[in-house]
Amino acid sequence: LKNNSIASSVDGDRLWQRHLEMATFGPSENGGSTRLALTKEDIDGRLRLAEWAAKRGFKVFLDGIGNMFVRREGTNPTLPPVMTGSHLDTQPQGGRFDGVFGVLAGFEVLEALEDTRTATQHPIEVAVWTNEEGARFWPGCMGSKVFADPNKLQPMHASKDINGISVHSSLAQLFLAFPTTPRRAVGFPVASYVEAHIEQGPILEAEKKIIGIVTGIQGTRRFRVEVEGFQGHAGTVPAELRKDAVRASVNMIAKLQDFAYAADSRVRFTVGRILVEPNAPAVIPGRVTFTIDFRHPELSVLNEVGDQIETICAQNAAGCKFKVNEIARTNPTDFKGLIPDLIEDVSQKLQLSRMRVYSGAGHDAENLAMLCPAGMIFVPCENGISHNEKENVEPDHLKAGARVLADVILALAKLVEPLYAKRD
Ligand SMILES: [Zn+2]
Repeated sequence: LKNNSIASSVDGDRLWQRHLEMATFGPSENGGSTRLALTKEDIDGRLRLAEWAAKRGFKVFLDGIGNMFVRREGTNPTLPPVMTGSHLDTQPQGGRFDGVFGVLAGFEVLEALEDTRTATQHPIEVAVWTNEEGARFWPGCMGSKVFADPNKLQPMHASKDINGISVHSSLAQLFLAFPTTPRRAVGFPVASYVEAHIEQGPILEAEKKIIGIVTGIQGTRRFRVEVEGFQGHAGTVPAELRKDAVRASVNMIAKLQDFAYAADSRVRFTVGRILVEPNAPAVIPGRVTFTIDFRHPELSVLNEVGDQIETICAQNAAGCKFKVNEIARTNPTDFKGLIPDLIEDVSQKLQLSRMRVYSGAGHDAENLAMLCPAGMIFVPCENGISHNEKENVEPDHLKAGARVLADVILALAKLVEPLYAKRD
């Protein structure tokens, strides 16, 4: 154990094998994973992680939204834990590394500490956040959102999947599978949080860097716009008498996008779902519902553009009634300070190529950043492809990310002198 480092004890083969093993839960046809939140596949994957934890003597806990915590005790158990982790749920036909890497890299850090009998003052916990992807239940980052704000527990329990199955009843299945696992109240003090993740974008690969030091996560506002026209016969109603919900919506969307993209080149404005009713070729559409996903790194732009949506819709309603509902909002996250600097410092000591990057995708770390100093470590993924069965990474890059994570966690959890302190 040289220079307060356990990086050399990180076992890249073990880390890779664990990824392959986790991918056996919900394998998809073309080599990816389909492990939607709180399904049997997700629960079975968590059970495997709990088995690995038990073998090393780590404790496992679950909270009221199904977040799972694997804990390696510190010499001062009353200190708040230093936390790492990510998620094990995937998109349908998703990849084997998105989220999984953060959980397994965290677990590898615990194992490396155990292998070297390294004692830390703070306990260290690896979190598995429930329903990060938001693919089965709305909204995403559900577990970490509730962790950061326990008042959201009850509303999230009521969220249902497309088959009408609630989070609440799916959680019952999880708890049934973990009958003796101690339950914790939702939300507790955390000393600091560092999440490792694949980049899910092309920048690190293009710049030939192995470590991304994440400086922030852009904010998101999501809206659902309901446009109500008047259903009628496509052949008989003259133009001036129509209240055509598609015509109004198409105009609204075009004007909204023109306005949003005029703000600057960092605007991301997506209308990804349009529902037309009755959706018949010979019927003037009576009703259209469309979604808006608007993202930007700056709160001011998020506010200014987002707050104009209602006005722009009003200017283009063409006689239709409409309603703009804001259904989710996450402000931009700024990881400035301690953790990014520490990641930079450790990467430099380990002689790993690195650069600062900004995250376009949302992550659980944005919720933890509301509670404690937080940050993220990115590693490259092949061609930037993610949320896809083709998602792929270099095993060496996973190892490098885990090595950085190990020394960052070690620094935060405070090594106990003398080195190699024996634990009982
Ligand atoms: Zn993820």
